Amino acid sequence: MANQNNTIIKIEHLCKSFGDKVVLDDINLDIRKGEFITLLGPSGCGKTTLLRMIAGFLRPDSGVILMDGNDISDVPPHLRPLNTVFQRYALFPHLNVYENIAFGLKSNKVPSPEIDARVRKALKMVSMTDYEDRDVNSLSGGQQQRVAIARAIVNRPKVLLLDEPLAALDLKMRKDMQMELKEMHHDLGITFIYVTHDQEEALTLSDTVVVMSDGKIQQIGAPIDIYNEPVNSFVADFIGESNILNGTMIHDREVEFIGHSFECVDEGFGEHTPVDVVVRPEDIYIIANAENAKFTGKVKSCIFKGVHYEMFVETDKGYELMLQDYNAFDVDSTVGMFIKPSDIHVMQKERICNTFEGKMLSSSKVEFLGAEFDCADNGLHEGDDVTVRIAFNKVELLDNKEDGVLIGSVEFILYKGNHYHLTVVTEDGDKIYVDTNDIWDKGDIVGISVAVSDLRITKRV
Ligand code: ATP
Repeated sequence: MANQNNTIIKIEHLCKSFGDKVVLDDINLDIRKGEFITLLGPSGCGKTTLLRMIAGFLRPDSGVILMDGNDISDVPPHLRPLNTVFQRYALFPHLNVYENIAFGLKSNKVPSPEIDARVRKALKMVSMTDYEDRDVNSLSGGQQQRVAIARAIVNRPKVLLLDEPLAALDLKMRKDMQMELKEMHHDLGITFIYVTHDQEEALTLSDTVVVMSDGKIQQIGAPIDIYNEPVNSFVADFIGESNILNGTMIHDREVEFIGHSFECVDEGFGEHTPVDVVVRPEDIYIIANAENAKFTGKVKSCIFKGVHYEMFVETDKGYELMLQDYNAFDVDSTVGMFIKPSDIHVMQKERICNTFEGKMLSSSKVEFLGAEFDCADNGLHEGDDVTVRIAFNKVELLDNKEDGVLIGSVEFILYKGNHYHLTVVTEDGDKIYVDTNDIWDKGDIVGISVAVSDLRITKRV
């Protein structure tokens, strides 16, 4: 975390809702001077909203943004010492490259010789020196984005905000521009705050990555730490390929998963504690001779991916693992596998069952999530406040949404080696977590039902 003197932007308890929807939920973040920091997360997680608040285009509902120690809530965007580069370049079509870059300086009555020097320097910085007289409409997407960047840096901002600036470019151009942006950041020495949903781009470019989901910060760290030590299954799944599995911490340094126990390096989880285990595909060592291996499996598929082969292996206890190796192994062959203790990442489970607050409507009817469910007569009375627990594998999803007690949409799918763990969001925005062997797609609208005997209800005191 940034030390106080080196901090240029400090964000404290920032919250923002649009209507009922909470888009940013208690965001706290320190951004260091000269840092390349990336806000990374899936579409809709709130990263652009956060960037727009730093820029001053949006006001927070609560919380503050400090710049160099001063609250900038009341400072309008054009007086903040920062500039934004958007995904759509928004260049002035009737002005040439030079005039586009000089526009802001001219409006601010900067003397002509200084404008000329600064525009030429900015053009050089974005490798567009020979393009100053060109009509901007004649430029490629990548060149237009360079002009947009030049137009921002010519103002000498302390902070450059970049909102998915490469999203509209083709893959090759994007890769080239990534390298150039990194060099530009180095040469300028200013702070870059970058927004992307592309995890590879975030890992390549950044000093620090802020992983967001659902309006919350999930993890802040250097790319290598985010990759090697994800704090939860969301981060592990979002950053790179992973095997994410249910496990049990037997005791310090021993964890059980995929039906075997493994030595690991983790401590402090307690004994016989349910945990999530993450193993990267490249960290499972595979050998043709299965005899002395820790566990065995059968190769189900093997695809060449350019540098390595990607294989799916069904283990001896029926779990499916993804592996990467420089060697190919025959489909249907039996192989042996090892995992080094330091390559097993153990994470606290975020939850072990669904838990809701509810109210008894009668001794055999309970209300929670805004719906009425039949329940077993449990001696509780109308009006009792209760906690309702439902195991993940006891929630039933139905094709026909009208057949359920509630309707939901499948928002997030995590494969856990032998089943799927789904996040289903109800019409009111509540979340129900479901373990299932059925295959659902993101965005599927489903009915949700729970058998009477699967509601575990206790009185809330
Ligand atoms: P994307 O990569 O798709 O832009 P994002 O992570 O940047 O996603 P935001 O643009 O910050 O997400 O939006 C977060 C949520 O807030 C989304 O559900 C979006 O629909 C909603 N939202 C954003 N701006 C507004 C607005 N002005 N009015 C209502 N809802 C909004």
